[in-house]
Amino acid sequence: MAYPMNGGNGQYSYSNNSSFQRGAIHATKELINEAIAENLDIKNFSSSNTFRVTDLGCSVGPNTFVAVQNIIDAVNLKYQSQGHRTPEFQVFFNDHALNDFNTLFTSLPPDRLYYAAGVPGSFHSRIFPSASLHFVIISYALHCLSRVPKEVLDKTSPAYNKGRIHYSNSSDKVVEAYAAQYAKDMECFLNARAQEVVCGGLVAIIVPGCPNGIPHSQIFVNMWYELFGSCLLDMVQKGIISEEKVDSFNLPTYFASPQEVEAAVERNGCFHIERMEMVPQERPSGNSSTSRGRVMSSQIRAGVSGIIKEHFGEEIIDELFDALHKKFDESSLFESWNGTNMFVLLKRIATI
Ligand code: SAH
Repeated sequence: MAYPMNGGNGQYSYSNNSSFQRGAIHATKELINEAIAENLDIKNFSSSNTFRVTDLGCSVGPNTFVAVQNIIDAVNLKYQSQGHRTPEFQVFFNDHALNDFNTLFTSLPPDRLYYAAGVPGSFHSRIFPSASLHFVIISYALHCLSRVPKEVLDKTSPAYNKGRIHYSNSSDKVVEAYAAQYAKDMECFLNARAQEVVCGGLVAIIVPGCPNGIPHSQIFVNMWYELFGSCLLDMVQKGIISEEKVDSFNLPTYFASPQEVEAAVERNGCFHIERMEMVPQERPSGNSSTSRGRVMSSQIRAGVSGIIKEHFGEEIIDELFDALHKKFDESSLFESWNGTNMFVLLKRIATI
């Protein structure tokens, strides 16, 4: 399923509404520096003078430029500290073909010291030649599933998710269907990367996570989805959309636990987990002219309006996100903030 973030540079564009995701890149900068200093095996590939980086699910910027620059700075430092000539960098910006690559390309930093290329296609499949990548980053994208699990839309299935748009407060069967889809998608993701990443190369994953043992319903990203679902149900009550429309809508995202990631990496067998930790997620804030609720509602709008438009139609968008903004402002969700991101560092190991 390809629902890109809102393109362009307008009021509701991803470029102007992605500070929340950017917080995760800032919060993990030091972990990326350490990963490169301590875990990147440059002796394996310093004979080639081109260092290839990709940002998978890069969207339109500017966050991707920050993430990529952090990596380049750290790699340069590593090469210098080991007495090697610094390499040339090639950076591949990947996203679905429908992503607004024009906005991405026109806003590339003018002073960049790397060769840029766009790579369209799903990161759940092969998108690079064998053993061609040295460093892969994927930030706030690996929770996107390739599809909504089919059971949750099937009225005859015990996992039918009536009246809800996500799994977090649903029956165990619904949660299992989402978890199984995530496991399948992770298998495809890791199989593809195992072929594309050179031996000794690294994959850094930054994603909102569900700490081991914590119920899905208690993590913040899922609590927002609950509020969002309740706005849609209010619109059913008001007769603006039909109940059937809500029943047939589910968001294709899953926030996994460290245990689930570990299990997927173990099943794949081509990577070693060098590091895995939960990192506090910055509490969203408002500013003097915009409430926190409006900021959050606009950020979610930049991310999900494509999928909402396709299912419910464009007419409901303004009213829906106004309602979400008000619910955020009235809720106490932010007071007891304990949002967490998961940082995972994988190294491609030699396999026979
Ligand atoms: N990494 C950026 C963007 C995060 S938004 C940042 O940190 O700000 C998530 C992005 O992942 C979206 O642009 C979406 O289109 C992309 N995405 C989701 N699933 C994908 C897939 N299977 N293949 C490629 N891109 C994908």
